[in-house]
Amino acid sequence: MERTFAIIKPDAVERNVTGKVIEMIENAGFGIVGMKKIRLTRAQAEGFYYVHKERPFFNDLCTFMVRNPVIVMVLEKENAILAWRGLMGATNPANADAGTIRKELGVSIEENTVHGSDSPESAAYEIPYFFSALELV
Ligand code: ADP
Ligand code: MG
Repeated sequence: MERTFAIIKPDAVERNVTGKVIEMIENAGFGIVGMKKIRLTRAQAEGFYYVHKERPFFNDLCTFMVRNPVIVMVLEKENAILAWRGLMGATNPANADAGTIRKELGVSIEENTVHGSDSPESAAYEIPYFFSALELV
């Protein structure tokens, strides 16, 4: 079993489609070992996305991520990191495969509904960024 980190982003919280996202996660066989709704501060968003700090979209991305609450989650499954990236779909919803969350629910390349760790190293940074071990069941 492997763990990965997920965010349901503000665009989905605003449109009241968090239940749809969670249903797709559960239908795909992931266990949810941690989940909470939080509102990121600007500093928290910038620290979370520090790998992108030189990218042209960094400032807008952080503004988007703090404009409303998000749901942060830790998911568990065999090969969870790759499996969750697959269920999410491509970064740009226009390029995402049918049946993926971003294809079904994404709005744009920025407002693409979900985040997922892209490697074991990312998961190892992202999970403890938001959860203590006591919060993971
Ligand atoms: P992913 O979330 O698929 O791992 P990246 O790590 O490349 O994608 O980018 C992080 C987030 O930044 C994306 O999910 C999206 O919200 C935003 N983003 C990525 N590329 C762009 C872009 N070209 N323009 C605007 N926002 C972008
Ligand atoms: Mg990424």
